[in-house]
Amino acid sequence: MTPAARRMKRRLERRQRDALRGRLGRQRYDHLINKLAAFMRREWQEDRVPTLLAHEGNLRHSVRSALCLQGWKWESADEIARDLVQAALDRVGAKRPTWLQGQREFEERFINRTRCKICHFQLPEGRRVFCSSECGSVFDARLHRVRYADEGRAYELIARERDAPR
Ligand SMILES: [Zn+2]
Repeated sequence: MTPAARRMKRRLERRQRDALRGRLGRQRYDHLINKLAAFMRREWQEDRVPTLLAHEGNLRHSVRSALCLQGWKWESADEIARDLVQAALDRVGAKRPTWLQGQREFEERFINRTRCKICHFQLPEGRRVFCSSECGSVFDARLHRVRYADEGRAYELIARERDAPR
């Protein structure tokens, strides 16, 4: 693609995005970013999530669903949802982790565990986190529950927003 074509493409994309923002309404757009940012900050400060980025996926999904229910097309709803969540992440100063930090075992690499993460029993030879696959499943189930609860909270936040004055 030539530089001129690339510029044109960017301009078109910007115009499309501006149109979507316009459709949401400038005031509501800013209001949503504030709410999303406040939610991210609160969740993080109250220690419910390990990073400011933890809700990124949930929130995008929730905003998208809420907009779809209000008659938006999936693609437009998804685009504006990504836009809103990114703006909120920028506002709270969320930094993306490196690839390594994003891995589930990140913490474990730097901890020399001697006891099971779940039952605190002495780890058998060759096991680094859980003493058994049972304890591994307990951990996974717990993780799943936490994630599910987060999604519920994120969805509520957006659902409530729908009834707010525009
Ligand atoms: Zn165990």
